[in-house]
Amino acid sequence: MRKFLLLWLSLSLPALALAEPLRVFASVLPIQTFVQKIGGEHVDARVMVRAGFSPHTYDPTPQQISALAGAALYVRTGVPFEKAWMERIRAANPGMALLDARAGISLREVEAHDHDEDGHEAEHRQAADPHQGEHHAHGEEREQGLDPHVWTSPRLAIHMAGRIRDKLSELAPEHAAAFTRHHAALVAELEALDAELHRLLDPLPSRKFMVFHPAWGYFADRYHLTQVAIEHEGKAPGARGLAALIDQAKQEKIRVVFVQPQFDRRQAQQVARAINGAVVAVDPLAADYIANMRAVGRQFSQALQP
Ligand SMILES: [Zn+2]
Repeated sequence: MRKFLLLWLSLSLPALALAEPLRVFASVLPIQTFVQKIGGEHVDARVMVRAGFSPHTYDPTPQQISALAGAALYVRTGVPFEKAWMERIRAANPGMALLDARAGISLREVEAHDHDEDGHEAEHRQAADPHQGEHHAHGEEREQGLDPHVWTSPRLAIHMAGRIRDKLSELAPEHAAAFTRHHAALVAELEALDAELHRLLDPLPSRKFMVFHPAWGYFADRYHLTQVAIEHEGKAPGARGLAALIDQAKQEKIRVVFVQPQFDRRQAQQVARAINGAVVAVDPLAADYIANMRAVGRQFSQALQP
């Protein structure tokens, strides 16, 4: 009997200790994946921008806002919806720790168009916002020109993984050894991914690619590629802008226009038709980061073959 009791205790006590995993919210799916991999069974990682939605325009649901009440940590990445929502996210749980996954990363600027701005549209924008000049003086407005898609570089993902491990260890020091172990395994996977992407992309003779929404800037920087975006500052180009992009694509012998599932693909199709090329979907927000980035690498490699 005593033996059974001891057996019962030894089986159930660890289960009791695991009963309350640390609830952590991340803004986007790839970061949720990193948090879950590092946290393992000690963490319940959740995502704010759900699959299929754009982090540029996302509105958290009332259920998500109330779920924040039980969260120990929020991991932000600087995606645009945070600008409108961060104060409310914080207010939902003032005791929740906040980690900015971008800290320590020097953010790149979103590339400006090579060609002249569509004069008409620029005028229109100015008329719509007479205080535009003033706003530029504020810090948050300055952030707008900076590229928020940091996780598209596996090298920067490794950097963020280190910050996530440190923060989880600070919040649950009793599991620090497990976090360190899981982190090391994740970093090994990311290193292998980075090496594979170098092998795939380094030998390509043509290095310029076209994309509707410029989500691949850090990826491009890492593998010495150049991103040409159809969208500019979150806006689709006018007819003149589009014509200039088509000219550029022809000159650069671009044959593929990349799109991502969260954005409209009509303008990409228009460009692709004009250059006799194809539209290819690549997703910077997939939850299965490593398998997805491998697939992305192969798609870029195919698109940029001579
Ligand atoms: Zn984006």
